[in-house]
Parts: sequence; C-alpha cells; structure tokens
Amino acid sequence: MPQGTLFIVSAPSGAGKTSLVRELIDSLDGLQVSVSHTTRERRNGEVDGVNYHFIDVPAFEAMIERGEFFEHARVFDNYYGTSRPAVQAALAAGQDVILEIDWQGARQVRQQMPDAVSIFILPPSREELERRLASRGTDEHAVIARRMRDAVSEMSHHDEYDYLVINDDFTTALRELQSLVIARRLTLARAGEHHAPLLKALLG
Ligand code: 5GP
Repeated sequence: MPQGTLFIVSAPSGAGKTSLVRELIDSLDGLQVSVSHTTRERRNGEVDGVNYHFIDVPAFEAMIERGEFFEHARVFDNYYGTSRPAVQAALAAGQDVILEIDWQGARQVRQQMPDAVSIFILPPSREELERRLASRGTDEHAVIARRMRDAVSEMSHHDEYDYLVINDDFTTALRELQSLVIARRLTLARAGEHHAPLLKALLG
C-alpha cells in the first residue's frame, strides 16, 4: 500500500481556511483532516473530538513529555499540537492527511517529513481581511487591531510554503486546492506504485 501524502495548510485567521478545508475533504475520497489537541477554550458550536481534542495545560504538557506530538506550538495564548500516532496510522493506510497548523508547526513538520506539501492561504486584500476579522463577534477596536497584528505576523511566513492560494472567490480557491491534491496523486512516485499491476500488464 503506497503511503499517503501529508498536506500542511496554514493561513491567518479570516482567510477562510477551515471552510475551504472542510469542502476539500468532502469533495475528494481518501483525504482526511487531522484533529489537533488544544488548550484553548471551546467556542460556541465546536465539538470535542471533531473540531479539536480540548484538553487542559497539564494534560498537554504530559503529552509533550511522552513525545506524543508530531509537532506542537504555542499559538497566541494557547497550546496546539498534532498527535503523532493518529497521523502515522492514516498515512500508512494510504490516506492523504491535511494538517491545519500555524507556521511554527509547519516548520517542525517539514524538518521531519521533507516530502510534505505545504500550502498557504491568503485573503484577497487587507481591507477584506479587516472586514472578515471585524465581523467575528466583537466591534471592539483593540480586539480587531490585535487580530490584524496576529494575522500579519502569520502571513509574514507565507514564503516558507510550496504553494500560495488566494481565497477571493471560494469556488476558485477550492478548485485550486483540489488541483494540488490531485496533481500530487498523479506524480510518478504515487501513481507508479498505485498502478503497478497495470504497468506490469502494459509492459509485458
Ligand atoms: P484557532 O484557535 O482559531 O482554531 O486556531 C488558531 C491557530 O492555531 C491557527 O493558525 C491554526 O492553524 C493553529 N493550529 C490549530 N491546530 C494546530 C496544531 O495542531 N498545531 C499548530 N502548530 N497550530 C495549530
């Protein structure tokens, strides 16, 4: 069974990453998103085990101690991390796996798995990003300014990634993400192994 591919997807808050990734995994077979662990508070509508595994700081630190994280980082005020066994099992079963992680986690993953494909999603303009961040529950100027600073800090790492996708039109951005996954599946390394019986028959 050929190994699956690991895709890293990063973006500033407000770029539409989570909605795009959800549509992407619904639209392609053999692709799943890794559910991270976090110490941040659960937001309205989020479900434990679906959006994140919500755990407290001592439990998170114990997982670090036991070496259970593939990567982990402090992002703004909370811990986030990807469990190693879950990702390894999915890849070994031939599944493609998406990690929705920040630039610090992306660096750690690239070091351990140089074949991982990394994608950065950008908003179409600064004005649009400001508009999207402002529509997230609060009008408080200081809160929006902080979100904007955090977004700019994340975006400053876009040049460490293999691919850039601009989320102006959702359907276009989704098609571009699908193209990246499909193109990877058609590489000789992946398709050659997958179609080994066909190649054997064709070549006699
Ligand atoms: P949020 O709290 O808004 O869901 O996510 C905040 C940031 O944490 C986002 O940039 C998101 O990509 C990042 N993040 C989520 N899960 C992980 C993870 O497992 N590892 C790392 N390094 N970052 C993560």
